[in-house]
Amino acid sequence: MTEKELDAVTTQNIDPSISAFENALKQFDAAAKVLNLTPDQIAVIKAPRRVMEVQLPVRMDDGSIHVFTGYRVQHNTTRGPAKGGVRFHQGVNLDEVKALAFWMTYKCAVVNVPFGGGKGGVICDPSKISKGELERLARRYFAEMVDMFGPDRDVPAPDVGTNPQIMSWFMDTYSMHYREYLPAVVTGKPLELGGSEGRTEATAQGIVHTIREAASHLKIDLKRSTVAVQGFGNVGSYSAKILHNEGCKVVAISDVSGAYYNEGGIDIPAVFNYMKGRRLLEGVDKGLKLQKMKNAMELLELPVDILVPAALENQITSKNAGRIKAKMIAEGANGPVTFDADKILDEKRIFTIPDILCNSGGVTVSYLEWVQNRMGYYWSNERIQEDLSRLMKDAFKAVLDTSLQYKVSMRVAAFVVAIQRVTRVAEMRGLYA
Ligand code: NAD
Repeated sequence: MTEKELDAVTTQNIDPSISAFENALKQFDAAAKVLNLTPDQIAVIKAPRRVMEVQLPVRMDDGSIHVFTGYRVQHNTTRGPAKGGVRFHQGVNLDEVKALAFWMTYKCAVVNVPFGGGKGGVICDPSKISKGELERLARRYFAEMVDMFGPDRDVPAPDVGTNPQIMSWFMDTYSMHYREYLPAVVTGKPLELGGSEGRTEATAQGIVHTIREAASHLKIDLKRSTVAVQGFGNVGSYSAKILHNEGCKVVAISDVSGAYYNEGGIDIPAVFNYMKGRRLLEGVDKGLKLQKMKNAMELLELPVDILVPAALENQITSKNAGRIKAKMIAEGANGPVTFDADKILDEKRIFTIPDILCNSGGVTVSYLEWVQNRMGYYWSNERIQEDLSRLMKDAFKAVLDTSLQYKVSMRVAAFVVAIQRVTRVAEMRGLYA
């Protein structure tokens, strides 16, 4: 696949007319209505508190200077420091970062970890810049907003296009500025640098906890269920692997290179082997006898029990929602289903585990990493898995109970639970001055 083709396919599904932030606000409004919040209560917690845009001049390997644009949004810090990833992607824009920061506030509240919400992004294509350029860009991003970050202010983590190496550079830049070893300023670090056991697979592990709970509620036998996963990065690949280990039949996977299908089930460990030293699934169909789907978006429309969109936002819209056949959608990605699509899925009685609940395993283990950094004492993977499982199950139960109590969708219920928690603390703290 040429770089040009890769570019075209990476951006092909993102409809610029859909504002992720507007979608997020509509989700908020639907829950605020159920709770009968007053306009004052809404005003205090709805809009982002701080929005920062920075220009980042970076010396490129050929000696030229390229000025990148970066963002950090702190949506809310009522319940604790802002928490949320930093995305390096060519499609980053302020609307998207605001939406992602917003979802982080309510994700942390729904899984009940003591953080607020934040998110960052840099407009760049990390696959097209060298490792040295990437390091200079990452350090410049962190240094430019060094006052905004801090273990008690704002704690970033990896997201699309960033990884533990970039978190190490963030942590080192911050520690050099403050002349102290301060690992708790970022999470998702390598183990040797204060990372946590279980963080790499945490988001996917959390997704599978929620799928298990949902399957038990819907009386779906996981061992006899079929799965399609969109996206084969951190979230998608580990979701496919853990679901495969649970006994599910994963029949389709995809990434920017295309979608690959086998009605009889895909040998996911063999795909992991294939991916060693590779970035893309491209070519996996030949070695593993899979069928490459003509249109990658058709993966979303397969008649499977469980669909896991784990790529980017706005994948299921009012245009394709009517054709979705899955019984359950587990939102691995943030915002993969638009507000309008939600209504159609609800009418079709498709059970959606909303992103702020479904993919909150990542921020949960990030919280455990932050706690360990602050104690200077590190827990075993067993301990991490126990805590993750308990927190995810408690969150799922709170949302399901609320959904049944108010007779609303799981998405509205998740926002109801989260907004109540944020509002309660906002009122306890009151207004300064
Ligand atoms: P990643 O960069 O590791 O992987 C993204 C994957 O999506 C890649 O395989 C890419 O090829 C694929 N992709 C991109 N556009 C696609 C398209 N149009 N069709 C099919 N595949 C496409 O990112 P990630 O960390 O796995 O994050 C994926 C999603 O999960 C994002 O929405 C992110 O915000 C969300 N999320 C991530 C975490 C985490 O811990 N990494 C936590 C919570 C939520």
